[in-house]
Amino acid sequence: MTRCDALIVGGGPAGSTCAERLGRSGLDVLILDRKSFPRDKTCAGWVTPQVMSTLEVDLGDYADGRTLQPITGFLTGLIGRETVENHYDGPVSYGIRRCEFDHYLLQRCGAATRLGVPLKSMERTQDGWVVNEEIQAPLVIGAGGHFCPVARKLGARSLERASVVAAQEIEFEASAADLELGTARPEIPELYFCPDLKGYGWCFRKERFLNIGLGRVDSQNLSDHVAEFCEFLKDRGTIGCEIPVRFHGHAYQLYERVEPRLVDEGVLLIGDAAGLAYPQSGEGIRPAVESGILAAETIVRANGDYAEQRLKPYARLVRERFGKPRSNAASGWLPASWLQLIASRLLVNRSFARKVVIDRWFLHTQQPNLQA
Ligand SMILES: Cc1cc2nc3c(=O)[nH]c(=O)nc-3n(C[C@H](O)[C@H](O)[C@H](O)COP(=O)(O)OP(=O)(O)OC[C@H]3O[C@@H](n4cnc5c(N)ncnc54)[C@H](O)[C@@H]3O)c2cc1C
Repeated sequence: MTRCDALIVGGGPAGSTCAERLGRSGLDVLILDRKSFPRDKTCAGWVTPQVMSTLEVDLGDYADGRTLQPITGFLTGLIGRETVENHYDGPVSYGIRRCEFDHYLLQRCGAATRLGVPLKSMERTQDGWVVNEEIQAPLVIGAGGHFCPVARKLGARSLERASVVAAQEIEFEASAADLELGTARPEIPELYFCPDLKGYGWCFRKERFLNIGLGRVDSQNLSDHVAEFCEFLKDRGTIGCEIPVRFHGHAYQLYERVEPRLVDEGVLLIGDAAGLAYPQSGEGIRPAVESGILAAETIVRANGDYAEQRLKPYARLVRERFGKPRSNAASGWLPASWLQLIASRLLVNRSFARKVVIDRWFLHTQQPNLQA
């Protein structure tokens, strides 16, 4: 039997950040992930400078041998309609590749890992948990993303009323000649909202890599929406080459409408396992990283007693940090046609696009860095 102070199921940004913080306090942490790393993760791969700063990533070191695309502006609009562009004086975000970013964080976190091994069983014992009949830990942290087996085991994810984004994405390396055929610019990602406002598509060039995707809170006919969006990008001239690979699908829950269940006896949930992605943008890496830190803070304070009551401060810290899950009120009482009309006017207003869509919804400039 392998013993550790805490077992983290999932080695994505939530899991590796939590592990790194627990390690700083001297806890012996083991990360279990069903994939071998480096592994890919369906994601557009943009992170804000706040994330890099909270993670204490040295940008020069990171960029050595990895893709780090500074973003200095955004093109926004509605699919098939007008667009506006906003520019900033310096980088307001970065494009990373998840196969590199997640691997970098995992290697750096200092925890022991068991990779390529899925969680198969999880039994409660007097001393905590026995996982896969071979790992014993007083505490298990569910960081397994949207389909986290720990969250499912606890029945912690009631998805009936939840807002779940269904998304499809591809990322591929394009030749210099193929990049020349389109107008996609590396420093200006393009974001296009669906006319019914149920999601948005993006085209994002990170150095030589093109990342294209579309996510919606209404999963019906998602493939059709994606195909139409690709046609639109080709018609606009954003991409001029053929898309050489198949789209990958994934889902994740937004932090709205339902209060997530975050703790249980000897268990905490972090990141997508807890359903914490920002509602308007779907950004999930920052909440994953920050929830990992808040969970670690609570665990260290609990000082070895992981009764549910001792772990509850984590739920309070999450509420303080991210607020109460909003109810999605506007779309509840305004007729859809009104919303669409208002949105089609506002989204192509440069000032609204900058102050609300980009600064507030996508960059969260109003939310200071987590002090932990
Ligand atoms: C198409 C798309 C685009 C996105 N774009 C962005 C973006 O640009 N910026 C942004 O901030 N967010 C984006 N997100 C959201 C972001 O990807 C997630 O919020 C983020 O990855 C959450 O991190 P995490 O560590 O909680 O989970 P994950 O990154 O999903 O990591 C979970 C880990 O758990 C492992 N695991 C799963 N099941 C098991 C099991 N049974 N046993 C063991 N291990 C298991 C997985 O292999 C994985 O390594 C996007 C999401 C999608 C779907």
